[in-house]
Amino acid sequence: MKLCTFVREGVSSLGVAGEDGIADLAVAAPELPREMTAFLAAGAPALHRARAALGSAPRLDPSTVTLAAPIARPPKFLAIGLNYADHVAESGLERPTIPTVFNKQSTCIAGPRDPIHLPRVSTMLDYEGELGFVIGRRCRHVPRERAHEVIAGYLVVDDVSVRDWQLRVPTWTMGKSFDTHGPIGPWITTPDELGDPHALRIRTWVGGDLRQDSNTKHLIFDCFAIVEHLSTAFTLEPGDVVATGTPGGVGIASKPPRLLHVGDVVRVEIEGLGALENTVIEEPAATTLL
Ligand code: ZN
Repeated sequence: MKLCTFVREGVSSLGVAGEDGIADLAVAAPELPREMTAFLAAGAPALHRARAALGSAPRLDPSTVTLAAPIARPPKFLAIGLNYADHVAESGLERPTIPTVFNKQSTCIAGPRDPIHLPRVSTMLDYEGELGFVIGRRCRHVPRERAHEVIAGYLVVDDVSVRDWQLRVPTWTMGKSFDTHGPIGPWITTPDELGDPHALRIRTWVGGDLRQDSNTKHLIFDCFAIVEHLSTAFTLEPGDVVATGTPGGVGIASKPPRLLHVGDVVRVEIEGLGALENTVIEEPAATTLL
């Protein structure tokens, strides 16, 4: 299934995206949670109920709804740096022997078609197309061979980065966490539908210009190794999102650099998972007090 969060007439609901439109779970299975993290926490019974309800669910025309980030506020939004050999090389670094883990603040989450802000304080805005996965079960000390049991599904992430803020200090948290710099989606594809997550073509375009073209088979630490590593230290919870790292071709590594400008449309597409398409805009003036 392709589990999505959509907004229709101002109301947020869960749905299942398909060839014939979006099945509205709020109508087909009203007893299910209306929010993705709660839905995932309800586990296999909720998934089975959703699947059973699909046959009778009314289909919504996708043009009448807005797809939102599948998870509005993940409990944790983690990312892995330097996880494709070509990106490590273009960054001028050694191939890592331990995953480089960092946080993106969960307030940076954006929807699959939402704008990305060019911050007031920087012109060094960059894209990073990435495979992401979502945790479906509370877990700790998960061995690699059981990691597939705790992954609820996979999605596309753009790990948008502000390069000067990322690299002028030893930790990347600020430069990776500006508001709107975490587009995810367009939906969560369940593992049974996707098949092997480590054999997917991943591409990023800016405008019509293909900037990244790789395959998730080139991940240095794959999704299962990442689950094992993270859960050695802390509990993973339903709704946690992990971005697995970007392949070569980021804007800052280009000679000369090809960073993002207002009006650019960034498209990140992964085979079997769909695509994000986000347009760069000036950070609005009205963000001082919310
Ligand atoms: Zn990244």
